[in-house]
Amino acid sequence: MINTFSPQVVEMAELNNLFIELTSKNCNQRCKHCYIDFPISKNVKDFISIDRIKDALNDTKNENIEFIYLTGAEPMTHPEFNNILRLCLKKANVCICTNATFINEKKARFLKKVEDESTNEIVFKLSIDHYNEIKNDDLRGRGAYRQTLNAIKSLAKYNFNPILNIVNYYNEDEDVLRSEFNKICEKIGFEATDFNFHINKYHNKYKPVSDDFRINETGDFDCKNGRILTEKGIYVCPFLANDHRGRMGNDFKDFSKKMYLETDFCLTCSQNRNKMFGINLTLLHKA
Ligand code: SF4
Repeated sequence: MINTFSPQVVEMAELNNLFIELTSKNCNQRCKHCYIDFPISKNVKDFISIDRIKDALNDTKNENIEFIYLTGAEPMTHPEFNNILRLCLKKANVCICTNATFINEKKARFLKKVEDESTNEIVFKLSIDHYNEIKNDDLRGRGAYRQTLNAIKSLAKYNFNPILNIVNYYNEDEDVLRSEFNKICEKIGFEATDFNFHINKYHNKYKPVSDDFRINETGDFDCKNGRILTEKGIYVCPFLANDHRGRMGNDFKDFSKKMYLETDFCLTCSQNRNKMFGINLTLLHKA
């Protein structure tokens, strides 16, 4: 008998999460564990054009978009970041996924003003990977830990409710991570709940995966109700942005709703079981 392999398929139900990759290669950090392959130079100029974003917002006007996520590499390096933010806020709530280095008190005050001009809200996902400064900075670079804590403090001062985006690189017990991060937040005067901690498994791009892996279960993955716009086209999710395996089309006029889960990234999602990039809205409404 011939055994034919058919991978798990995810059919997108509704487009609720629109990810926009503002830059694929521009970041002021070089974190050891990042899933993106960076060029050696930190001065690559590969920013998405504002017209491409306008077209995407127009093409998705009949979709039920709950959140627009500004992602990268580092989205806040985009020279037109503020204009893009205002544009997106006209359409939906916006989540800024950032390494937090561009957020200080002055910036937080400015962002609150931008939010106040809109009927939608801004949410932040700030990268920090360990409650121990040395362990965190070993991954993210010297000073990263303090910069993120400073960003949390500044945002909380202006009544934002930032999410700590934690990659569990050291494979620790998640309850321990949550409780230790809670203590740190308390120390800096930020009252956190479960909503404020988004813990993900580490995707090790250097670890070879056997070609015949199988995904037997699916979870609440990002591809279920999201797509990402990049300068090159539409892709299934941030993990597979600009990767031919995740290409879904050229624009939102006509894009694919179907994804076969057969990549090494999908394997990490299946081990994680939840969204790796989108916000858990159930927790948002409880917070
Ligand atoms: S990497 Fe994750 S979100 Fe992306 S297509 Fe695979 S399962 Fe879906």
